[in-house]
Amino acid sequence: MECIGFIGLGIMGKPMSQHLIKAGYALTVLDRTPEVQQEIVAAGAHAGTSPKQVAEQSDVVVTMLPDSPDVSEVVLGKNGVLEGLRPGSLFIDMSTILPSVARRVTDAVRQKGADGLDAPVSGGQVGAQNATLSIMVGGSAAAFARAKPIFEKMGKNIVHVGEAGAGQVTKAANQVVVAVTIAAVSEALLLAAKAGVDPAKVREALLGGFAQSRILDLHGNRMLQRNFQPGFKMKLHRKDMSIVLHTARELGLALPTSAGVAELMNAAMGNGGAELDHSALVMMLEKLGNFEIPKAG
Ligand code: NAP
Repeated sequence: MECIGFIGLGIMGKPMSQHLIKAGYALTVLDRTPEVQQEIVAAGAHAGTSPKQVAEQSDVVVTMLPDSPDVSEVVLGKNGVLEGLRPGSLFIDMSTILPSVARRVTDAVRQKGADGLDAPVSGGQVGAQNATLSIMVGGSAAAFARAKPIFEKMGKNIVHVGEAGAGQVTKAANQVVVAVTIAAVSEALLLAAKAGVDPAKVREALLGGFAQSRILDLHGNRMLQRNFQPGFKMKLHRKDMSIVLHTARELGLALPTSAGVAELMNAAMGNGGAELDHSALVMMLEKLGNFEIPKAG
């Protein structure tokens, strides 16, 4: 089995790395927070000391970091992954970042005689914990075939979408649907509650019809329970909407609905919601309407 390096052990990276350990892979792990890294070391991984050292110890290096600058720094920066990669190594970034940065990183990795994949995920914390993530992959067919057994330990719906950057474009499309649907579910439940109709019953009724979605199910439930513990942090989804809007601008494309939801996210973050789950978007609409959905009994 290949030796794997795993960098970034946050809400997603931690359970994903644990699945790889359980599957029997030898893992070297690295996180900025020593206590978090220690927890995974206690579960059977080796402790990494720098991205370069992690790459030196590994055949395959996986990153699960917040944003484009983090991936650029960890891969291309001083003591970065690139300095430790060997010809024949494989680099897989599973973070959600700009497609243009993903392409730049893969180009740099290929110049070292290694190969790279962008493989962002969907399915959230629950999907990471249950190893049921959707994984959308950009890069060469050979790299995809090599990585597939590793992906299968973390996810279920694994699709090779196209060349480098295609995985990130797919994830951007995914985030449009998720953001707009969260806003739609928020507005629907708020409308029902302010009209004096039990929003829990409305959710129940809608779940059996054309408006059914996992977001109505899971995020709708969060809104009713007033449970905004992340999950997926608002600031990370806002970051993803920047990726969407930046990419759309590069393409000369107007995405007015996405832009509107991104503005609502700005307001939510300005009102203390940055670290809350993205379902807390409902709180901004409640503020605008001067009405709060009552907590379900
Ligand atoms: P997170 O909880 O913030 O985890 C990121 C981890 O990376 C943190 O432990 C952070 O350490 C670490 N890190 C940051 N910079 C580092 C560096 N230079 N070296 C080593 N470690 C570093 O974020 P997350 O929710 O797991 O998300 C990770 C990625 O997955 C993001 O791109 C996100 O958009 C994407 N994603 C998330 C979800 C979700 O539901 N959470 C779903 C799909 C996709 P510190 O704690 O010290 O900052």
